[in-house]
Amino acid sequence: MNAPAVAHPCPVCGAATVIHDVVDFNKSCEEARRYFLPLSGRAVYYHRCPACAFTLAPELCGWSDQEFQQHIYNQRYIDIDPDYVSKRPLANADFLQRLFGDGKAAIRHLDYGGGSGLLSQTLRLHGWDSSSYDPFPRNGQRLDELGRFNLISAFEVFEHVPDPAELMQNITALMADECVVIFSTLLSDGHIEPNRRLTWWYAAPRNGHISLFSKQSLIVLAERHGLQFGSFNNVTHCLFNRLPPWATKLTGA
Ligand SMILES: [Zn+2]
Repeated sequence: MNAPAVAHPCPVCGAATVIHDVVDFNKSCEEARRYFLPLSGRAVYYHRCPACAFTLAPELCGWSDQEFQQHIYNQRYIDIDPDYVSKRPLANADFLQRLFGDGKAAIRHLDYGGGSGLLSQTLRLHGWDSSSYDPFPRNGQRLDELGRFNLISAFEVFEHVPDPAELMQNITALMADECVVIFSTLLSDGHIEPNRRLTWWYAAPRNGHISLFSKQSLIVLAERHGLQFGSFNNVTHCLFNRLPPWATKLTGA
């Protein structure tokens, strides 16, 4: 039996987290579509930060890349995330094309956490300067050899990382002086609250959803790294230092 970790500090704001609830490891996002894996018998505790409402699964956050590959990102991953192969990368490429296609001549784009690279390939077919980088599994590709970018996308990344502070260090190291980061993660506001069981479909260990962000936690994360933060909706957000000219429409200017 695995005992829950105690007094785990919030990796976003540093406050002491409290145990929020426990779910079975096989809880997956596909439960929202009425697809259920058999229970694994393995308990996964989620801790919540009372200050910024960031919620994490400390035990899984301590896993090695090998453990993540063995238990989560294995050949069965497609069963509980069927859209990750092509549906989502193509939709996200279309989103970026519609949002910033007019400015593509001035854009140097990196798709952070780009997996197979389909999003970047698709944008390149539309004439973009786009490349893909995936920090997982660690493969010897060095961040400082990639250069700097003025548009970085990170779709389906934030909720998967064991350490948001390390993620932000990586991303800020890739940002040019004028750079906008477009990223997705579903906000936990209204879903994860004290005295409410963790039934939210997005809190899914089997999908590797080990870092769950509230709006406040994203605001704190941005502030701590000297960035501005904004949301398009409850799942798509942006961070920026200074907006490039082709991105000023984000502020309505
Ligand atoms: Zn916090």
